[in-house]
Amino acid sequence: MALEIVSEKCSGCGLCIKACPFGALSLEMRDKVGKPHEKFKRIVMVDVSCNLCGACVPVCKFDAMKLDKGEPQKAAVTLSDYKNVWVYAEQRDGVIQDVSFELMSKGRELANQRGCELVAVLLGHNMKEKAQTLIEHGADKVLLVDHPALAQFDSDAYTDVFSELTRKHKPEMVIVGGTSVGRTFIPRVAIRVKTGLTADCTGLDIDEKEKLLLQTRPAFGGNIMATIICPNHRPQMATVRHKVFKKGKPDASRKGAVIEEVFDIKSGRSKVVEVVKEMQNEINVAEADIIVSGGRGLGGPEKFELIRELAKELGAAVGASRGAVDAGWISSFHQVGQTGKTVCPKLYIACGISGAIQHQVGMSSSGTIVAINKDPNAPIFDIADYGIVGDLNEVVPAFTKALREG
Ligand SMILES: Cc1cc2nc3c(=O)[nH]c(=O)nc-3n(C[C@H](O)[C@H](O)[C@H](O)COP(=O)(O)OP(=O)(O)OC[C@H]3O[C@@H](n4cnc5c(N)ncnc54)[C@H](O)[C@@H]3O)c2cc1C
Repeated sequence: MALEIVSEKCSGCGLCIKACPFGALSLEMRDKVGKPHEKFKRIVMVDVSCNLCGACVPVCKFDAMKLDKGEPQKAAVTLSDYKNVWVYAEQRDGVIQDVSFELMSKGRELANQRGCELVAVLLGHNMKEKAQTLIEHGADKVLLVDHPALAQFDSDAYTDVFSELTRKHKPEMVIVGGTSVGRTFIPRVAIRVKTGLTADCTGLDIDEKEKLLLQTRPAFGGNIMATIICPNHRPQMATVRHKVFKKGKPDASRKGAVIEEVFDIKSGRSKVVEVVKEMQNEINVAEADIIVSGGRGLGGPEKFELIRELAKELGAAVGASRGAVDAGWISSFHQVGQTGKTVCPKLYIACGISGAIQHQVGMSSSGTIVAINKDPNAPIFDIADYGIVGDLNEVVPAFTKALREG
């Protein structure tokens, strides 16, 4: 496997260098590297960080890049043994989380495309009645494991049970919410069943020809969208954050089967002693219909008071850019964006936020975006429905005052 630069054809134009997302190509003087040419002075060299992605090959106008990916890898398992789309139905305190209904809606589409069943996997205690809601949201079957040890999330127990179910039933695809629960146990499951996992997908689709799950997510700091496939291992596993897909309408007339699986759950290395809820009095940005967010433009932690006052008048959640979180002005519970929460409120008000791509990927699907920024060229204005060029110290209190005075 190698990327070869055809010395006699390389003109040293450098187009491939711009196309390489890994910074693995550089231009060298031909004399220096012992590759003289009568016409061209420079040549492209490849370094060890090249991962053979092939992004450089189509941009070369001189046909000077040759990519040899070697023999295609053989599948690690018999792919045809794996069937159906699974969605992990996350419950907390016995309540199935909205993210799971969103994934059911996408899972239904994928199962229809593959002509297979959509199976919801529900782990918990005394949850049998709730299984029906999953059928109403598109499941053909619900795999239910009911055990007191599963009432609260326990990473060891959930990993053991989910891995065992996966080995037994061999799903083709597994989709899980990119929540703190999903992120904790599903990578462990992927390792146990020896497959890959694409975290925080923002798009899922089926490659009709290859029958593969296309898992799209931001890569390289959000600067490109990468579509990832898992051709040789099964299941194909992905996590997706809350609000990336839309929850469908339940259909009470749908019929499906609830299959109970019995497990002898041994006590794991960990034990849930008490569940303490963080930020109980705060509205979670991931759930909110209105969000007022503050960024580094606030200039200091005390200025979040302006954001909180406006949020209070609107019944909104307080959001923040990573810039503000990294500065220690507010907790990461509030962070919106690629490494924070994905939000989809009806109204998003961004105050003193520049609108970096990593922030945008978490909030650009908001219904109406209002941006307040003193820089008229701030990228946030590119996606804002209403933009106010001004000092947030004047604009935000003016909004709050107007709302208070009715
Ligand atoms: C891998 C990776 C992941 C990341 N994940 C996230 C993420 O999840 N979320 C996220 O937000 N960022 C994320 N970032 C960081 C992101 O690239 C930006 O650095 C960050 O969003 C900048 O925060 P900011 O807009 O608050 O600050 P800045 O970029 O410094 O912008 C501050 C803005 O405030 C304006 N301003 C200043 N004073 C005023 C005033 N008085 N009135 C009005 N406007 C004013 C300025 O004009 C400026 O536009 C990530 C980066 C990387 C590399």
